[in-house]
Parts: sequence; structure tokens; C-alpha cells
Amino acid sequence: MDDRSIAYFSMEIALDEKIPTYSGGLGILAGDMIRAAAEKKLPLLAVTLIHRMGYFHQELNLYGKQIEKPEPWVVEAYLKEEEPVISVFIEGRQVNLKAWKYEAVGAEGFRVPVYLLDADLPGNSEWDRKLTHFLYGEDPHYRLCQEVILGIGGVKILRALGYNNLQRFHMNEGHSSFLTLELLKEEIVKSGRETASEKEIESVRKKCVFTTHTPVLAGFDRFPLNLVEQVIGSDHIFFNLTNLLSLQGTLDVAHLAFTMSRYVNGVSKRNREVVSKMFGRYTIDSITNGVHAPTWTAEPFQILYDKYIPGWREDNASLRSALSIPKEELYRAHQTAKKKLLNQVNRLTKEILPQDSFTIGMARRATRYKRIDLVFQDLEVLKRIAKKHPIQFILAGKAHPQDEDGKKIIQHLFELKKSLKDVIQIIYLENYDFSLARIIIPGVDLWLNTPQPPLEASGTSGMKAALNGVPSLSTQDGWWIEGCIEGVTGWGIGESGWDYVTHDNIAQDAFSLYEKLEKKILPLFYENPQSYIDVMRHAIALNGSFFNAQRMLQQYILNAYAFQMVTLQNCREE
Ligand SMILES: *Cc1c(COP(=O)(O)O)cnc(C)c1O
Repeated sequence: MDDRSIAYFSMEIALDEKIPTYSGGLGILAGDMIRAAAEKKLPLLAVTLIHRMGYFHQELNLYGKQIEKPEPWVVEAYLKEEEPVISVFIEGRQVNLKAWKYEAVGAEGFRVPVYLLDADLPGNSEWDRKLTHFLYGEDPHYRLCQEVILGIGGVKILRALGYNNLQRFHMNEGHSSFLTLELLKEEIVKSGRETASEKEIESVRKKCVFTTHTPVLAGFDRFPLNLVEQVIGSDHIFFNLTNLLSLQGTLDVAHLAFTMSRYVNGVSKRNREVVSKMFGRYTIDSITNGVHAPTWTAEPFQILYDKYIPGWREDNASLRSALSIPKEELYRAHQTAKKKLLNQVNRLTKEILPQDSFTIGMARRATRYKRIDLVFQDLEVLKRIAKKHPIQFILAGKAHPQDEDGKKIIQHLFELKKSLKDVIQIIYLENYDFSLARIIIPGVDLWLNTPQPPLEASGTSGMKAALNGVPSLSTQDGWWIEGCIEGVTGWGIGESGWDYVTHDNIAQDAFSLYEKLEKKILPLFYENPQSYIDVMRHAIALNGSFFNAQRMLQQYILNAYAFQMVTLQNCREE
């Protein structure tokens, strides 16, 4: 049991298509990290909450109005119940917790255990039992209690399960930052002190790694100190740290994670810059996200790679030789993936989309900064473009239940669907999730991404597209600054490259988008398909070979986990 040295904590993890314990990109990334760790036999385990009612199931009525339903799932069908029961104190009440185990299994049979904490136990009050029901319940009080369970309960359950050799605690986003407090408590007990000194804080720091995915201060969870005091009690070790954290009436969980971590990273090079500006006094590294290649490569492409790039699963970097795949075969694999998507669209909506029409895909959370309506900014221009070269859209995405503005964006897209229907077909699929993403992304001809710079920390769906030879057209933000080679791996919108730009110039970005579509992309697709296929091959060879979870995991091992292990040993010897 006690063979694990790294504990990975995340509020959401997408473990399986049938386990709805994630909301989107952050959870999928965590799942991909775990799948990559199982493949590489890394001695890692993970901790999250069980979220018995899921995130939510999205239905859209005729007008695009979002209806949210809970998504209960059969825990026993996928997870094994563990014995130990531990407890945390919430508002002075003892809340009992147990864990359920999921195992991610690598290609060679190596297992990475994931523990999902569950408060729905008979001894707990009705209210406490619901604390592990809903992912991101909006009320800050509920969220704070969940974060106490994840961080403090998470460390305690690992100890109860017998894990005593953990050298690293990785916080995937700030939601789990309370784990640092439980570790601090352990250090204090060990040194027989009453309060924390610099020595104990330093010991905790040596073990902690923090990855931030949030490019705006408002994106971090913040709790009023009186609420924190109410939930964890005024005698909690946390209140030893108030000077160190120089709190001004609020606890910003990211700030706690920063302060208590030895190593902090952003999730793309641009994100590192942005976060460094927000938190000037910390040194921040960057590890650009990656996606798990075998999970995100559609079957026709798996077959193709097995034939031409043997060993690509074990060594994703070898996808660089995709340049040697014959164009006709690549084209055929793409048509197979496209057909599967169009069939699925037909099954779900009864609409028939022509196979030979240029298909643009865009699926992401419906929220203002993602600007999923940017491409519909000037309908006259868009119609003119579509009259010359046919285009159709396949869209999907949920709005957060509290994001009224995001919900309006979906309704607006439904109106456009009606008004454009004679010229451009627009499909909006319900309930974008893990399984739908695996059908939509590989099946389109172009993956569109139009967030407002610099708010996209990384973005990962374009990486999934690249693995399937689907080029991106995207604003220059997040990973695309690193992944875009104009006209080679895809196309950029707006000013290119590394110049630090914060802007929300909708008209200018829309103009640039239309120009790329009309003058570069559509003529290539319809009049010069061989060259379009060449871009598809380069998307695989240059981006699929690099923006994968295997490369990401290796960077975490080297930069965040192992390097410090060496340092730690040196410190011990002194
Ligand atoms: C990959 C993925 C995301 C994240 O996509 P972004 O490009 O980062 O917006 C969100 N939801 C699902 C279901 C995904 O598969």
C-alpha cells in the first residue's frame, strides 16, 4: 500500500465517460494527467470528491434556454468502498468521511488509485451529507466546506489508508489548498510544538506543488475571514499564518497555496507571464498542458498511427513522423471520423448535414470571455463568405448554472441558427461532455477558438483536435501562442505572437477571423485539398507530438517533483 510518493489533489477529475464528477477543462486535464501517470508507472495517487449528483445534465429547449438537471450516478458500479472512516470539524460538528477507490490502469497494467471522498454517511447531519453531492455548488459557504473536506479530509484519509511516504502534494488549482494546513498540523505535532514556526512551514513547503489555471484575480475562490473562522474554528492552525499571509479580511485560496508551495506553475508560457504579473513576489514556472493521446485520438486515427507510427502510444513524440503518412489514407481516416460525427448529429437532432461541406467545430463553456459568438459578429460578411464556399457549424457547451450571461449567449446562438438557416446550418448539441467531445472534435474540418486574450490560461480542446489532424483557427492566447505556425499547423486570429496584449476588440478580431476564413482557409479546403491535408498532417506532427499528457507529465516529474526530491535529500543530509 505504502508505495506512493506523489499525491495529486483536484476538486474535479474526469475519470470515465460514465462518471460525471467534472465540469470541463480542469477535470479533463486532471484525468489525462492520471491516465498518463498510469501509463508511465509513476507512483502517484489522486484525491477528489465523489460528487454523487455530478455537475449537471444540460437540456436546451427550442429557444436554447438551458435546463439543468442533477446527474446522479451509480457509485457502486465503478468504485470500491474503502474501510477507514475519518472526520473533519466543520462549524464544530464532526463530519465523518470515507473514500471510494477508482483505479486508472495503464497499458501495462500499472494502477493509479484515485480516492473520492464521501460525506454521505448515516451519522452525519442531512446538510453535511450533501457536502459531497454537487460539484461547485455556488454558495461560498458550501464551497468552503467542500474545500475543507478535500484538503483536510483528503490528507487525513490518505494517512488512514496507510500512505505515510508521500513526498509531494500537488494542488491542481487552489481548491485543495487547505491540505497545506493539515500538513502543517502534522509537522507541529511531530516537533511537539503548539504553534507553527518557520521550520514547520518550510517542511510543508518542501512537499507542496501548486498549479494555477486562472489568469484573473477574480477567478480565484475567496472567502471572508469570518466565514473561514465560522467553518474551521478560530483556534485552527490557519490563524497562526495570518501575518505570513497578510490577509485583509479575506482568504484567497490561491494565495494560501502560493505561500505554502515550493514550486508553482502556470499552464502555458503566456499564462506564466500573466500570473507572474498578478503575484509579483513569487517565482512561477510554466508547464504547458497536454492531452492524453490514446484517449483523444479517434479510432480511425489510432488505426492509422498503429500502421505507420508503431510505438506512438508509448512514445507520443514519435507522432512527428505523421508527415510520412500518405495523404489519401489520412484523408480517408478524417472522412470516417467526420461521418461518425454527422451520423451522431443526425441521431440526436434529425438534421442532415452534407459530408462535403466545410464543417467548423466549436465546443466550450458558454461564458463571456470565451466569446463563442465572435464568428457571428457580422452576419452579412459571414453570409457572403458562405455563399462562395459552403460552411456549417457544430457547436456545444454548457453555461455555469449561475452564469445568466452565458445562458443568454446560448439563446442568442439559437436565434442565429434560425435566421441563418437558408445559408448556413448551425447545430448546437446538448450536454457537452467527455463522450461528446470525443465525437465532435475529431469529426470537424476546423476547430475554432476565440477567447479574449489573455484570459485563456491554456485551452486543451485544440490539442485534442491536433491529434486527429484537425487544424485550429484561434485567437493568439494560451497554448495557441506556442502551437500556431501560421498556415502550417493552423491559423491565428488577431495580432500574432508574443507581444503581451490585453484586449477585447471584438470588431477587429472578427474582421481578422473572416479574413482568414475567406482568403486562406476556405480556398485551401475547396480548391487545393492536397495542401489542406498537408496542414492536417503538420497539426499532428508538430502539435500532436508535443501537446500531449506524456510530455506534460515528464515536465512535472522533472521540474515539480523530482528536482525537489533531490533538494530534499540534500537538506536531510545537512
Ligand atoms: C477538452 C474539454 C474541455 C476544455 O476545452 P477548452 O479548449 O480548454 O475550452 C471542456 N470540456 C470538455 C468536455 C472537454 O473535453
